[in-house]
Order: sequence, then structure tokens, then C-alpha cells
Amino acid sequence: MKTLITTLNSQYIHSNLAVRYLYSAAAGDGRNVHLREFTINNEDSYIYGEILKGDYDMVAFSCYIWNVEKTIYLAENLKKAAPHMQILLGGPEVSHDALDLLMENRFVDYIIQGEGEQSLRKLLDVLETEDGSGEGLGTDEVHQKKGAELAGVDGLIYRFDGKVFINQAAEPAKMDMLSFPYRYIAPENDKILYYESSRGCPFNCAYCLSSLERRVRSLSMDRIFEDLRYFLLKEVKQVKFIDRTFNFDRKRALEIFKYLIENDNGVTNFHMEICADLIDNDTLQLLRTARKGLFQFEIGVQSTNREALFAVNRSADVVPVLDNICNVVALGNIEVHADLIAGLPFEDYDSFTHSFNNVYMTKAHKIHLGFLKLLKGTAIRKSAEKYGYAYRSKPPYEVISNSFISAKDLVRLHQVEHVLDLYYNRGGFEKTLYYFTTEVATSPFAFYEELADYYYLKGYQNASHKKEDLYRILDAFAVYKDRTAKGCGPYIHGLLEEDLRANMNPEAVKKFEKKGWEI
Ligand code: SF4
Repeated sequence: MKTLITTLNSQYIHSNLAVRYLYSAAAGDGRNVHLREFTINNEDSYIYGEILKGDYDMVAFSCYIWNVEKTIYLAENLKKAAPHMQILLGGPEVSHDALDLLMENRFVDYIIQGEGEQSLRKLLDVLETEDGSGEGLGTDEVHQKKGAELAGVDGLIYRFDGKVFINQAAEPAKMDMLSFPYRYIAPENDKILYYESSRGCPFNCAYCLSSLERRVRSLSMDRIFEDLRYFLLKEVKQVKFIDRTFNFDRKRALEIFKYLIENDNGVTNFHMEICADLIDNDTLQLLRTARKGLFQFEIGVQSTNREALFAVNRSADVVPVLDNICNVVALGNIEVHADLIAGLPFEDYDSFTHSFNNVYMTKAHKIHLGFLKLLKGTAIRKSAEKYGYAYRSKPPYEVISNSFISAKDLVRLHQVEHVLDLYYNRGGFEKTLYYFTTEVATSPFAFYEELADYYYLKGYQNASHKKEDLYRILDAFAVYKDRTAKGCGPYIHGLLEEDLRANMNPEAVKKFEKKGWEI
């Protein structure tokens, strides 16, 4: 039996950890298992053709909000072309309404709910021995045997004899029993590699699927060090820990930081999602000794509105969170990305403005302005009516409006997000942005809001711009601003020139000088 494990990543640069775990679990023991990754940007016909050419008996898709629609369409067409091909779906996007999904899509044969490694391996074992060879069984007996064995695959929902069956949930795997996901597959150096040293999260954020599994399981320290040694040896560019809260256990986090500092190869960057209020003095002192670029932290603030935080089950005490972002930024050797979510309950436009300004003041190196998604299975989706939520009916189920913020205000925040990404997050405009946000505009948010209004008024959003054009656009905005903030235009022109020379290579600067500032 020839099986393909596959997924559609959101971008080429991403690699998918789940399919590697599944492959590591299912390959070996003589099973004929293959792994192939596509992206959602690949043409439908290309992915369809590649899979069909492979003559697989089973195709297992890992499904997420960014790929589920395309995956289901693809699976339907594959089944039409090759009716013998068994279709298996798994992943977070199919785990919460698996039964409905199976009933609505007759071309789907199996869905695995929850963690897939053990269930997939057991399922393949059942399907591979279904012919009863060597046991002298008749066709009916083989069929019955298969039915009984499928019933023993925990976590599986499936069709058998025209009926749908739901098996009991699978027990979460013991972490050290999981194979190292890069065991059979060499890491590709042009991709970000993902690594998981723990599963589950002790917190309970109402919008997050990880909150559904409160028990946290970690690999043993020996196993973690062994795995990390591999990345260090391979001089991988960036390893992203996908642990939901890397420092849920301070002692464990401290030991891993220490190991990475002591064994630093001078090249690899490790990205972790950190709970800022769990950072203590010992951790800060240790982090101070790390090479610049060894660590990168992502810290979820989400909002600084206490009522909003309380409504989504997050700690309403944001002071230690903001303080610790400042503390880590002040170390000067760790890049910090801070996350905000627009569309939380009780957070209206003015309140979001306030949250944005508070986070901006921390000087986090990047600010990710995200929009609430009402994911299937989450508490916030169950409370949608209570807070007057309207949200998109298709993945990623993003908020349209709620009782506190209008649809138009959220569109405006999307525009702010766009210019924030182009200028603040992309970097290279530091002096200019500092002057704009501290001397010209009434607040950082007010600046990005005005810049977004100008950017969209001029229609710049309709084209993609090279970085040098972004300098020109900001210069044009300064000239425009000069009408109301008299005298700022020429000064900002000078700052932009300094930023440009400091951030672009001499050749690009020469080209820029030749073309001039006119956009
Ligand atoms: S948002 Fe983060 S902290 Fe909250 S439950 Fe999810 S993973 Fe845990």
C-alpha cells in the first residue's frame, strides 16, 4: 500500500512540522510512505497532477485554516479521478467538526481527530493487512476483521459498510515516544525549521485552540538537548519552537536557554513564544549573556484593555508584560515581536488605539497587528452571539464586527496594519518614524493612521513597492503633512535621507540619487 502524507503550506519558506512527525511515525517497518509538501500558491492542477501521477492508495492531508478549502476541493477531484484512492484528513481545521465534514463530503474516507502520529500508524497497519493473506480467511471474514480493527484505531472517524463510525479519542502521546521529526528528512536550509519541545498550554485564552488541551507535556531535557544538538550541528538558519508557551516552566526554559548559549554555533537563531510575565530576574541575567541574534521572542500582549483581556480569559495585569518587553528589548541582543489582536470583546476603536500606543512604547522590534479569528471549537466562537460578533463564514473566520467595533473601523485597522508592516516592521526608517511618532503626530497610532489614510487616498496599495519607493512615499507624506505641521517637511526629508543611506547598499543609494525623490 502506497501512502502519501502531504499538506499545502501557506508560503514556500515554511516547512510543516506535523507532516514530518506523521512521516517519522509512519515510515519504517517496511511501510511504503511518502512525504510531499505543496503551497497554497501552487496551481490546483499542478498539485492534482503531481498526486495523481504518484499512484497512491491513500493520501493523508494535514488541514489548517489557510488550506482546508483548497484541500477539500483537491481531494474531491482526486477521488473522482482515482476512486480507489483513500482520502484521509487530519489537523486542527478538521478536528472540531469531523463528523459533519465526513457526512458532507462522501469522498473523504477517514478523519483523524487530535494528534495523528499513533492513529495514523495504527490505521496503516490495519489497512495493510486487510487482505488476510496467510490467515486463510474468506472475503467476508476479512471484511469483518477489517471492521473490528478499524474500531480499535483511537481518534479515527471513518466510513465502513456505508455507515459512519466515531472511535474514542486517542490518548495524547508520551512526548519522548515521538520520533525526532527530522529523523528521515534532512532539513532544507532555505526554510524556517519548526521544532516542538512541548505540547499543550497551561493557559485558557478563549480564542485559541491550544487552550482546549490544558495539560502540558514536555520532552525530557536529554531528548531536547539531543534534538537541539542536531540543529546546531547542521547550522540551521532559524529554528522556530512551536511550543505554545515556551517558558511555561521557568526552570525548564532556563535550562534550554543555558544550553543554547553554551553551545551557540554563531549562526542559528532560535525563535520562541514567550509569556512575558513569567520572565524573572534570573532569566534576564542569563539572557544578557546570549549572542546578539541567538534568540528571537514573540510575546502576545493582545490588548492592554483589562476588560477585554478578562473576557478572553487572559491575565488582566498587563504592567508586568509591558515592563518585561521593555526589559528584554533593553538587553539589546534579542529581537522582540509583540502581538496585538483587534476585535476582542470590549475593545472599541479608541481602546485599541490605546493598546497600540502602549505596545509601541515598549520599542518591541516588530508589532504584529492581528485580527481576531473565531475558530471552530473555541470559547469565543461559542460566545459570538453574546458579544454581537459577525465573522466570515469561511476560514479563517476573521471578525467582521462586534458590539464594540464596527466593520469600517476594522477595515481602517487593516490599513494601519498594512503601513505598520511596510514601515515599522520592515525596518530601515527608524529616525524618521521616531520623529514622526514623537514630534509630529499626537501619538504613534495617530501617525500610522494618518499615513494609512494618505497611502490609501493616493492608491499606493494597488501596487507593490520596492523599498526605495517606500522612502519616496514617506517623503511625499511629509510634504503633505507640512501643510498642517508647518516646517516638518524639510526636516523629515533630511531624516529620510539619513535612514536611506544607513539602510540601503551604496549601489541602491546611487540608483536612488539618479532617480531622485519624485514618486
Ligand atoms: S493564546 Fe497562547 S497562551 Fe493563550 S491558550 Fe493559546 S497558546 Fe496558550
